[in-house]
Amino acid sequence: MKKDYYELLGVEKGASGEDLKKAYRKAAVKYHPDKNPGDKAAEEKFKEVSEAYEVLSDPKKKQMYDQFGHSAFQNGGAGGNPFGGGGFEGFSGGASMNDIFGDIFGDIFGGQRGGRGGRRSRGVPGADIRTQIDITFEEAARGVEKVITIPRTVGCETCKGSGAKPGTSTETCKTCAGRGEVHYQQGFFAISRPCNDCGGTGQKIPHPCTDCRGTGKIKKRSQIAVKIPAGIDTGQRLKLSNEGEAGENGGPPGDLYVVIRVLEHEIFTRDEADIHCDVPITFVQAALGAEVEVPTLDGKAKVKIPEGTQSHKVLRLKGKGLHFVGSPSRGDQLVRVIVETPTKLSREQREMLKKLEESGLDSSHPMHKNFFDKVKNLFE
Ligand SMILES: [Zn+2]
Ligand SMILES: [Zn+2]
Repeated sequence: MKKDYYELLGVEKGASGEDLKKAYRKAAVKYHPDKNPGDKAAEEKFKEVSEAYEVLSDPKKKQMYDQFGHSAFQNGGAGGNPFGGGGFEGFSGGASMNDIFGDIFGDIFGGQRGGRGGRRSRGVPGADIRTQIDITFEEAARGVEKVITIPRTVGCETCKGSGAKPGTSTETCKTCAGRGEVHYQQGFFAISRPCNDCGGTGQKIPHPCTDCRGTGKIKKRSQIAVKIPAGIDTGQRLKLSNEGEAGENGGPPGDLYVVIRVLEHEIFTRDEADIHCDVPITFVQAALGAEVEVPTLDGKAKVKIPEGTQSHKVLRLKGKGLHFVGSPSRGDQLVRVIVETPTKLSREQREMLKKLEESGLDSSHPMHKNFFDKVKNLFE
């Protein structure tokens, strides 16, 4: 069980920012690893109070915590993971701890903050990219690999993303001593604002990389191979982790989402993993029975039409459908036979059909007989 953040800091729920800061400062001084060398319990406590302070000192996170408790910051917790990425998993001892530390202890340890790389050095993950691929019905059925071209920002290779010309380096901003913000006193209040000199990064680049003009990133049309699994359907989306836009300040890239659109097929339609198709047959084939060729994903298949088959009867070809994504098993193909009435008959054919009619065909049509029996009852 995780301890309550307010309890950890020993403050009331409505405590002011100033009280929180005081409480944290007191606890952190007590449990700081420098003061308790080799003491695991103290180190643990130090991490706990730091985490508590990180959350409660941030209005957004505090609100989440007040509403949902610890579950606000766990994957799958209330509202998913509101902070993206790994949430707080990367907390223990990372940059964020230094940030808080720098904030609170800057005055005590004096002048060391610049050396920590400044408060704004935390990496920001890159944006996600969403794109669409059109594939044919057959490609969806078999699975396919597609190479797509995506315009995106990537880390500059010339300067390895630092923004500084090779052979030169970035410098800590003198105006803000690398903190990215400047503090000043106004009456009783200590006020801070982002440093204008370095744009809040804490770093200056005296000799910017010429390829990326000091931004550390360049726009590039990247070719990316996308493996599309067999059985995929329109609207389904593939996630390619870390293939999105480059991150800021060493943050990870975003993700690439590829939305699939399966183009219509001339003959087949689909219903999840089942394939449907209509096959026209003559009324002679329907009456006498026949073997007809039907297209399937695996080539032509012979299908037996039983004697006396009615129009729109559906015949099932087991296992001739599409794959269920990620599974070797397949759906079925459903063949609907459509009995087609002949047009443009020759005189000879007309004569033969007339003879057929005169031979007393009515009684051998089950629906016909049934229907006119009902009609008879209706008017009697
Ligand atoms: Zn560069
Ligand atoms: Zn600065």
